[in-house]
Order: sequence, then C-alpha cells, then structure tokens
Amino acid sequence: MELSNRVQTLTPSSTLAITGKAKALKDAGHDVIGLGAGEPDFNTPDYIIEAAEYAMKNGLTRYTPSGGILELREAIVNKMLRDHQLSYQPEQVIVTTGAKHALFTLFQVLLNKGDEVIVPAPYWVSYTEQIKLAEGTPVIVDCLESNDYKLSAEQLEAVITDKTKALIINSPNNPTGMMYSEAELKAIGEVCLKHNLMIISDEIYEKLTYTDRPHVSIAQLSDELKQQTIVINGVSKSHAMTGWRIGYACGDSKIIKAMTNYASHSTSNPTTISQYGALAAYQANDDEIELMKKSFKDRLEQGYEMLNKLPGFKCIKPQGAFYLFPNVTEALKLTGFNNVDDFAAAILEEEKVAIIPGSGFGAPNNVRLSYATDLDQLLEAIKRIERFLLNNQ
Ligand code: PLP
Repeated sequence: MELSNRVQTLTPSSTLAITGKAKALKDAGHDVIGLGAGEPDFNTPDYIIEAAEYAMKNGLTRYTPSGGILELREAIVNKMLRDHQLSYQPEQVIVTTGAKHALFTLFQVLLNKGDEVIVPAPYWVSYTEQIKLAEGTPVIVDCLESNDYKLSAEQLEAVITDKTKALIINSPNNPTGMMYSEAELKAIGEVCLKHNLMIISDEIYEKLTYTDRPHVSIAQLSDELKQQTIVINGVSKSHAMTGWRIGYACGDSKIIKAMTNYASHSTSNPTTISQYGALAAYQANDDEIELMKKSFKDRLEQGYEMLNKLPGFKCIKPQGAFYLFPNVTEALKLTGFNNVDDFAAAILEEEKVAIIPGSGFGAPNNVRLSYATDLDQLLEAIKRIERFLLNNQ
C-alpha cells in the first residue's frame, strides 16, 4: 500500500532517534546518561495530581467542549492578565492536546498550499514538519550566533514575499535558551505589522528564565500586536506535566473558533482529567515552579561553566528553557569528525552520554544538552565528554 505524499517527506525527529539508541544501550545494561530529554525531570506537583484524582472520582471523566472546559479557559484568561497584562475573553482561548497540537491546528486553519511561514533557525524540530503537513512552506532564516541566535528585524524584512503569512517567535528558545528583549520584539513586531503577518508566539518555556530580565510576550507590546499574535503556551514545561498533554492558544476569536471546529473533528477535546489538573495548576501561585526553576538554575550555572571549558566547545550562556547549545565546530576539527551527527553518535557509543545533534534544529555546528537531569549526572556526563575529546584527538 502506497502511503500518502503528505507523510513521505516527513523527517523523523532527531531527538527521538538518539533517545531510542540510548534506551537500547540502557536496556542492554550500559550506564547511559541521557541529556536528550525535552522534559523536566521533576514529578508533577501533588496539588495537581490531587485535582485530577478528584475529577476521576467525581464523574468528571466525560467529553468536554472541544475548546476545553470554561473554568480552565477562564483560568488561562486570568493567567494572561496576571502575567502579561493581556486581556482576552474565554472565546479567544482554546485548550489543546499539548502546545504541539495547538501549533498543528493553528497551521491547519491558517495556511493554504504554498503559504510561507518564516521559521528562525535554530528552531524546534516540529515547526517545519507541521507547516509542511498543512501544505505550507517553511522559510528558514539562519540567525547569527553573534546575535545570540536571534532573528533581527532586517533579516525578517529581507525574506518577506507576497506569500508570507506568518512568523514564528519562540522565546525562550528551544534549543538555544535565548530570549528576545522588548526592543528586539518591538522592531520585529513593526515589520510584521507593516506586512500584515501573523505572529505565532511560542511561549512554552516562559516560566523557566534565569536572568533579571522578565519574559516579554510580543502580544503585550501594543494593541495592534496583540491583534496580530496567537500566543501558544501550556503546562508541560512550567508544571512538569509533559504527559498530561495540555496546551493552549489565545488570540483572534475567528482563528480560535476555526481551531475549535477543527479540534471537534480531530481530538474532540483534550483529556478531561488532565484539564482539571491544568485548572489546579493555573489557579495556584508559582511557588512550586520557583522550586523547580531554582534547581534548573543551579544546574545551568555549574554545567555551563564546566562545558565551556571543554576543548573546542563554545557556548553562549542560556537565559531560559533547560538546554545548553554549544557550537562544537572546533571540537569536530580536533577529533576529526565530519558532522555533529557522527560526533553525537560516537559520544553515545564510547562514553554512553546521549546528546542531540543540532542538525535537526537547523544548526549543523551545535549540539544540544538538556539539563533536565540531576546535577551529579549532568556533571558526570560533561566529564565523560571531556574524556571522549581527549581520547579522540
Ligand atoms: N514548543 C517548543 C519550543 C517545545 O520545545 C515543545 C516541546 O518540546 C513544545 C512546543 C510542545 O510542548 P507540549 O508538550 O505542550 O506539546
């Protein structure tokens, strides 16, 4: 049976490939340290689990409205007001099966064949594939390391065509950990308004920031920008809830309504029990998040310092998320590897440390190390990489 053309061009996730190999080695009895994970290593806070348990025991286990229960959409409205001084109506919010499906559905309702979406690289692996699944064309713009891997307004202006429909901004960024400043977002926003581009603002790492500078949503910079922006967020990374699969999108009510209609024929609704868990998450204060964030920050400080001392590793200090993203061009030269894929595969083979090659993120000179693992393991992994570099010179 021939598969559809649609899936023939899908590229498998590079993250999953190396994670699969690491698991096979672990199952065979090897002492593998996984730095590939894109998820917090903490358990979901108890108060969230208790809320889900309450839902299960009290009959809150049936279908819900496709866009999510009203209480949760209202809690998200309150969160946006509290965190960003942004005022939405519940009709401007859709709860989805993770932020990933919010993005998927958004591309489905926004794009016609050939519509272009600008994707600044390095980028999260699913953007380009989801755009292609919606018959759109991802336009990848390489962001300069000297600009902390961020898109400039000039770069944006230069790639806009009459087919450009939208721009993706992901701050803090996966894989780089970099954040856009208010001034940078303003400059980018002006170009988007001038050319009437939709802005898709993926803010999934919003709560995990480690500098004095607060996270800024481009939607909060002016009424016009709010009008033009769909904010994507969710509880996966902020509340250690990756497996619960709850995300959301908020913005223009016509777009949200179309997404809700689409969802009614694809997912019906995000898992009911998880919605009640997410409701508890958004009704609580951020105390538990702060505890997780403190651990991430400790790991970042120590891991960053050690990693940057490795021969041939050059890393810009991340400001958010939970990834280190060193440029390893010099390390490749020192060790004689031709590309980061072979380099990462050899590190896994020889030292049993799983890191992700940057090639899948549109960054062929980098590797990604997740510090969503305990500090001892992280530091041991970096020691092993150091030994690998010495043994392969
Ligand atoms: N956006 C980015 C940048 C991510 O890194 C991820 C998860 O890895 C997602 C969206 C999807 O998150 P969710 O688990 O809520 O689908």
